[in-house]
Amino acid sequence: MVNQDPTNPSHALFDQFVQTQTCKEVQRTFSELCHHLELDPRDYQSFYTKLKERLNYWKAKALWIKLDKRAQHQDYQQGKVCAKTKCLVLGAGPCGLRTAIELALLGAQVVVLEKRDSFSRNNVLHLWPYTICDLRGLAAKKFYGKFCTGALDHISIRQLQLILLKVSLLLGVEVNTGTLMLCSLCGSLWLTPSGWMAKLFPDDHPAGKFQFDVFISAGGGRFVPDGFRWKELRGKLAIGITCNFINHHSAAEAQVAEISGVARIYNQKFFQDLLTEEGIDLENIVYYKDATHYFVMTAKKKSLLKMGVIKQDFSDANQLLGQANVDQDALLRYAHGAAHFSTDHRLPNMQFALNHAGQPDVAMFDFTCMHRAENASLVRERKGKKLLIGLVGDCLVEPFWPLGTGIARGFLAAFDTAWMVRSWGKGKPHLEVVAERESIYQLLSQTTPENISKNYSAFSIDPATRYQHVNLNSIKANQLQHLYDVEDHIDLDSVGAFEELLKWCQQHTAGYDRVKVKDLTQSWRSGLALCALINTFRPHLIDMSSLKESDSVHNNQLAFSLLEEELGIPPIISASDMATKEQIDKLSMVLYLTQIHDAFNERTP
Ligand code: FAD
Repeated sequence: MVNQDPTNPSHALFDQFVQTQTCKEVQRTFSELCHHLELDPRDYQSFYTKLKERLNYWKAKALWIKLDKRAQHQDYQQGKVCAKTKCLVLGAGPCGLRTAIELALLGAQVVVLEKRDSFSRNNVLHLWPYTICDLRGLAAKKFYGKFCTGALDHISIRQLQLILLKVSLLLGVEVNTGTLMLCSLCGSLWLTPSGWMAKLFPDDHPAGKFQFDVFISAGGGRFVPDGFRWKELRGKLAIGITCNFINHHSAAEAQVAEISGVARIYNQKFFQDLLTEEGIDLENIVYYKDATHYFVMTAKKKSLLKMGVIKQDFSDANQLLGQANVDQDALLRYAHGAAHFSTDHRLPNMQFALNHAGQPDVAMFDFTCMHRAENASLVRERKGKKLLIGLVGDCLVEPFWPLGTGIARGFLAAFDTAWMVRSWGKGKPHLEVVAERESIYQLLSQTTPENISKNYSAFSIDPATRYQHVNLNSIKANQLQHLYDVEDHIDLDSVGAFEELLKWCQQHTAGYDRVKVKDLTQSWRSGLALCALINTFRPHLIDMSSLKESDSVHNNQLAFSLLEEELGIPPIISASDMATKEQIDKLSMVLYLTQIHDAFNERTP
């Protein structure tokens, strides 16, 4: 008998969980639901089954039907195939969460780490037809009723993350937000006598005790674990601008047509008129109506200089687009002008939506140069303990956004990675696992909506269901010895990466007058320590003798601007807050200093 009692608290909690629209609320309602049903989410192997048993509610049942259909696929062997596998996934972006779901369906224990504690990216992603079908199969419409209704084929990043987070939690994935994994410093993945662990911040976070035999990096473009090599694809200078306006959902807004992609070569007149009337010169523009009115365009440098958006011309893209060289108000005017013109001035009341920092959601970035990892996997072995490492999403292949390849190829890689973990769970020899993964990886960059299989409903983690011509043995295990890292050179009992970062900062600021780095927060207040760090690596940029300790706002501003211009690292706090705020956020400082460490280490010969 179906229980339809609307006053049942667990039903109400379930409804809240399904409908809620922020990451924090998803986590809160989920934990209340578990508490109410006396379920332990750490009991990952039977969590979903018990949840289904205890939540006898028709709305929940409609969701189980969808998820069961997926879970019963033969590839997962009823969640037994990876029952002994433990996976750490770095990053709760769309690709990290999509991978986590597949790993959970295979029966693995899955822990996700995410440094942010909110999902705030308004930007809207174009979806290939297969991804729409895939997300429908995960009950996306139950969580977000407007999902790809009618001819819509896009979704905001935050909405996509919310859907995938909810599915992940229901399937027993542990998602830790506000948890930073310390990257690139030697030993961010380290071996204890009992197994592989990761170094995290805060360093006493319980997830730091999790031992795993599979590590998946889905940390976006910037996170690359040691051992992976990159190819750089450099094109001609390409400057992207994204902007979001509040969608008031009025009748007038509903009338305005979307622009699914106008490129200059296809509509010369439109771009010529835009230039003549507004002084704005674009290569292309896209407009999607979603939770916001979202525009993304590629702008020509000359017009940005002419309109005062970019103050001075530099050949180096970091310098050109560094914060100090961009007039933010002019950028807002430029983006507003382009959006207004391209919608035929029909969007009424165009107010910028706000980003995570409470600022108008407008960003300008360089996508001249894109990275692609040379390999998608490797195996590290220390003291007889093997760790399988894989890359997914932007971290594996940075997408060229005008083609909308980010999520489509990102999800394909998520499935391929799950297939790899499946082979690992089945006990296949490690180099064969890697060889199969690398054979499949050869296909990824060539996939298009046209050349993948059209039988979307049959897509599974098995590559043969998705790629039309796949040879799982095109690369042989004996060609991949370099992806099996068995050196035993790391001091396994070394101090935490957190202390390593502090040591590195101390080492590179030593000997500077009025600079004494004792910690990762207070010691940086006057800005002199940051300036000293810059001076160590780029002596020509700062005259240390001209800086006064009491002039902390100026010192911080100088350091922030240089770091952004030179290394492309945006500030995490304003110069005045850094100088005067009672508490400097430790997590943000660790992230900031880690980025500086990585950038100087990478770029210093
Ligand atoms: P991300 O979304 O970058 O997620 C990575 C996550 O890892 C983040 O949440 C980050 O906080 C976390 N993280 C990073 N380092 C750490 C750490 N050390 N510790 C803990 N957590 C960490 N794609 C499309 O498919 N269609 C489009 O139309 C499209 N348009 C785009 C337009 C623009 C302007 C841009 C810039 C991109 C566009 N993309 C598009 C690409 C798309 O946004 C990305 O491909 C997608 O977001 C990648 O997902 P991901 O999960 O790999 O990485």
